[in-house]
Amino acid sequence: MTIPDIDYSELTGRKAECPDGCGMCCLCQPEVLPREMAFFRRNRPDCVTKTRGQDSHFCLKMKKGRGSCVLLDGRRCTIYADRPTFCRQFPYHFYAGDRISVELDLSCRGVWTGNGADAAEEARALAEASESRLAAELKESSEVYREFYSICREAGVMSDVSAIRMSLSANIDKFADPAYLARIMDRSLEEPKMTLENLNPDPRYDAAEMESAARDAALESMGSSDPMMVPVYCGKDWSWNIFMARDGRITWSVMDDAGDMTEMGSVDAEDVPLRPLEESGKEILCRYIAVLNGRESFLGNVFHTMDRLGYEDDMANTYYGCMCVTVLDLMWRASMLDHFFHTGMGEDGIREAIIFYDMDRLDAPTIGAFV
Ligand code: SF4
Ligand code: SF4
Repeated sequence: MTIPDIDYSELTGRKAECPDGCGMCCLCQPEVLPREMAFFRRNRPDCVTKTRGQDSHFCLKMKKGRGSCVLLDGRRCTIYADRPTFCRQFPYHFYAGDRISVELDLSCRGVWTGNGADAAEEARALAEASESRLAAELKESSEVYREFYSICREAGVMSDVSAIRMSLSANIDKFADPAYLARIMDRSLEEPKMTLENLNPDPRYDAAEMESAARDAALESMGSSDPMMVPVYCGKDWSWNIFMARDGRITWSVMDDAGDMTEMGSVDAEDVPLRPLEESGKEILCRYIAVLNGRESFLGNVFHTMDRLGYEDDMANTYYGCMCVTVLDLMWRASMLDHFFHTGMGEDGIREAIIFYDMDRLDAPTIGAFV
């Protein structure tokens, strides 16, 4: 079975390696496919469990039910040659929308070194090894997308996705400016079918309101007392940093290899101001926005938002609105990392915020699926 048109464009010219001592992706509970169960039943039956709920599947157990995979020892996989497909695929994510596209996980520090294997070639080999599974997933997701487009047309909220993306791309430099994001958010409420044409930053924008929107967006993902449900930031020293927000206060803890957590500090979220970006920070942020703008999973999240809101807003309004919220979330996370780690708001600080942020999209709701 051959899958036509897998989109590898995000990986073009990129390399990926897996430096010693990381193990961050082993904090994401790996699914074990039915065909992989024979190995685990025979060799490590004690390490496998089954998830509950509608989409029940087998996966590997986590240390103390919340740390890394039980098969990680000294930050090394003890069954490397037999690890599940989920683990082999990292840092590549196959997204099934109305086609299959491959995204690079920018939370993996191994994709920032500039060394390692050719990312597109590695992903192609992985796709070939999973062809029939990807084809089955694509069949299912294409059906969902067809139905979604039909509802949009009927509701009169359909727009040309390529035109939306091209317009964002033409205005990308402005997206690192909260005054411009404020203007977009206003226009998306004022106009039934908005465009970015003749839109400029609003010099009189309400900075406190934007800061509050940025903080709310960032805190949403940290709002759980379950370490498995909040984002992990793999520090430059390979530490696994976990941030949990409760009643407006953020607690920073470090998870060790045994799954134990040590509290390192805390801060009231309102005491973290949205810090201005330096020029080098703006550049890397705009490059990241360009990546998001090309990702099918971002689009799938926009479509999910339209569905959740009952198809009341045009696709363009929702798309630009979602991008504003994403950028604000990232800016606030950069400000928070700067508070705890003094990473600044230049190239280094924004790169660290991307490393902190990018893996979250795996949990973001979408009408497609990572497979
Ligand atoms: S996150 Fe990247 S660098 Fe870290 S263990 Fe996984 S693949 Fe390797
Ligand atoms: S099986 Fe190996 S690579 Fe996969 S999560 Fe466990 S330790 Fe990590």
